[in-house]
Amino acid sequence: MRLPVAIAAVAVSAALLTSGVAVAEPVQQPAPPSRDFGNGPDRNEEAAGAGERASALRAAPGEDFRRRPGHDQGYPRRNTLPVPAENPADAAIKLGLVPYHGIAAKLNDLQRRSDRVSAEITGRSHNGHDLYLVTVTAPESRGEAREQDRIRERIENDPAGAARDRKLVKKYKAPVFFNGNIHGNEWEGTDAVLRVIEELATSTDPRTAALLGRTRLYFNVTANPDGRIAGTRQNGAGFDLNRDFITASQPEVRAMRQIMIDTQPVAMLDLHGYVNGTLVEPTTPPHGANYEYDLFITNAYPNGLGIEAAILALGYTPEADGVFPPQIPFRDSAEGWDDWPPIFTPQYAPFQGAVASHTIEFPMRVNGSDYTNRPVEELRRRSAINVDIAAAAVRATYAFVDSRHDRIIADQIEVFRRGAAGEPAKEVPLGIVPGFGPEDVYTTTYPRAYVIPAGNAQRSATAAARLVDHLVANDVRVERAKLPFRAGGKTYPAGSYVVDMRQPKRGLANVMLEPGQDISPRVDAMYDISGWSHALLWGATVDTVTSGSLHVLGVPVSAAAPTGSVPDGRGPLALAVRDAKEVRAVNDLLSQGVEAVWADGAVVVPAGARGAARTVADRYGVAFTKARSGDGVPLTAVRVAAAVSADELFTLRELGFAVTPVSTAVLNAGFDWSGTDVLVVSSGLSYAALDPQARAALDAFLASGGVVTRGGTGAAFNAAAGLLTATSVAGRGDANGVVRVTNGDGQVAGDAPAHAFVYSPRWFTGLGPEVTVEQSYAAGDPLVSGHWRPNPDGTGGQDAAAGQAAVVSGRDERGAAVVLFGTEPLFRNHPKGLFPQVARALYWSAAVTGSPVTTR
Ligand SMILES: [Zn+2]
Repeated sequence: MRLPVAIAAVAVSAALLTSGVAVAEPVQQPAPPSRDFGNGPDRNEEAAGAGERASALRAAPGEDFRRRPGHDQGYPRRNTLPVPAENPADAAIKLGLVPYHGIAAKLNDLQRRSDRVSAEITGRSHNGHDLYLVTVTAPESRGEAREQDRIRERIENDPAGAARDRKLVKKYKAPVFFNGNIHGNEWEGTDAVLRVIEELATSTDPRTAALLGRTRLYFNVTANPDGRIAGTRQNGAGFDLNRDFITASQPEVRAMRQIMIDTQPVAMLDLHGYVNGTLVEPTTPPHGANYEYDLFITNAYPNGLGIEAAILALGYTPEADGVFPPQIPFRDSAEGWDDWPPIFTPQYAPFQGAVASHTIEFPMRVNGSDYTNRPVEELRRRSAINVDIAAAAVRATYAFVDSRHDRIIADQIEVFRRGAAGEPAKEVPLGIVPGFGPEDVYTTTYPRAYVIPAGNAQRSATAAARLVDHLVANDVRVERAKLPFRAGGKTYPAGSYVVDMRQPKRGLANVMLEPGQDISPRVDAMYDISGWSHALLWGATVDTVTSGSLHVLGVPVSAAAPTGSVPDGRGPLALAVRDAKEVRAVNDLLSQGVEAVWADGAVVVPAGARGAARTVADRYGVAFTKARSGDGVPLTAVRVAAAVSADELFTLRELGFAVTPVSTAVLNAGFDWSGTDVLVVSSGLSYAALDPQARAALDAFLASGGVVTRGGTGAAFNAAAGLLTATSVAGRGDANGVVRVTNGDGQVAGDAPAHAFVYSPRWFTGLGPEVTVEQSYAAGDPLVSGHWRPNPDGTGGQDAAAGQAAVVSGRDERGAAVVLFGTEPLFRNHPKGLFPQVARALYWSAAVTGSPVTTR
């Protein structure tokens, strides 16, 4: 049954057990579930200073897992893992849990002791720590392993044939994926996984041998070594990895993604803490519209019930242990724990074939203030309970998969079969599992294809190439047309890319490329972001071909075609700044000291820089054009001081800007402004909280330096520092999604995409004569997809934002060039097509600040 109330009701409903009979006496109110006490509307505030931990970008290993030498082997593989140096500061030690440096030795030992265990390195974390994948299965010869690979490929690539082959499921070992510790300060998933691996490795029970003859169990022992060691939720770059799956900005996420592509699990668990009683998905509505939800819920719900039973069988009680009974949001709550955005591991896994996937939140909190303040014995008592519960969830899941081995594999095959056949989305019958009601029904309409055009119809060939590469990295099939073709009433040139939606992983293609839905009317409150769209936010033109025939002579794409070019001739060269890669190319040139000018949204370099231009054109895939003249405002490498969130710092550095993180504390400690051209403020810097000396130093900087701000913190800074004449108006704090925008003719937005991303949107009114509107929210209801309701008093809604200025620029009376963003152009490194707006703000601000105010 479902309680007709939101969020907090999940906890109360812990008293409503599997029988569905209400227990007379409600248990004491445990903590309300929040997905790990994560990001509220003020998500960026706490991240101030987090950026200081972020180190320089590293090359990302782990991309070639599938092609690594030695992948074509049997089992066991017996790789001896390098053992890291002992780190006495590892945060797991206090809890009596295994420190990161202890994992490799344990796995090496288990590989020595058992022929069922194989450990591999799938990549490295941001901070350079090895990521371990353990496969537990009965020994396989190389030939047997190859046969398993062939079956896996057939399930994906010939699902109709695989469905007809009755022997196939019998021969196939069901793959199951267990992900430990993706949030670094939710440690016990790792320890539970190690316990289960050891049990399976050493058990003499014939049932274990039989299990391992029918399954392959994959364990990502710690998905986040950086966070495990440091005791942080995020990785070393300050990213929440469990928000990164549609972006894959972090190496740990790319490694997990590749594991799921390569192993194609039928079921997966993501092991988290802390919610008491233990939270076991499936989720409340809204449900992701691109899942084959009938196949999913009929596996995920019974597995959830089995996990619940296994946890209850451990015998922990509220009275004796402080452990409340498990809760299943799908059953026990109306809203507030949804599976709408595929940014979470278990919400991404179904697109790679999982028909049961679950977040598990074990109950006993040991992080945050508990970690600091509780006695060590109490922390260890709690951690031990969490390990027990997480291990029970893992055992219940592999037992569940084993118990319905043939059917669960058949259900995965059916997911891919429907996709490859291009069948319409199936409406899930009400009551397909108990409690599945109209509120659970979410569907989409799959188009016939998406076309990413070549030629003049493409906004940015560079952005198109990045999007194609991203789709391919997700195992979405893309073809490149060898000849012109017609689709949806248009003619497309050769070289255009086509995503034919008749493909096994069409759900993943669609969830990234469709515009999404405005779900504000259907849902009161969402857990995290509600709107995203690679087609609308990544800077490339993507056409939707809704129906009709599709005849394209194409070749499968494994990597997008090169896009870099430099025109022949002798004159100066222009590079329009319309894509993140153009920003990188410009910053590369500037850091080499190439002479350059800023000229209305483009950077112009002299003829003498032609060789350097060729190099960056090749390196970043950017296309230079002939410049009409070499005129413009001189531009040198922009030195940025930034009080920003970790994701923004990462993105600014990724774009090639030299960034010094600052904060109120850093400025109050005495900051040398002589190396700064532009200050960026979105988080962790309050003008009002600066002491007199720091304020005087900042004011002196503002006489000759530019400012770019975002959000409430940025707007407050603008007001307090007396920069632009503008009143910042806050939209509802939890509003987020993709919005339609109209670009003005300023230096920043220019020909930016017609969509932007917002989270806690803002707009600007009462603009002074010095202020230019760079970008406005579209008239009408600007939200394309996401969740944006007005506040209870009617303010802060889409209608209030419609037509209002979303991004403004201007020169203040001291001459500083200032840009204020009410949108979120760098959000979690996701909206790639919006990054150039920030870069252009920085270039413009750096170039014109200090010049006469008439030069806008
Ligand atoms: Zn978590």
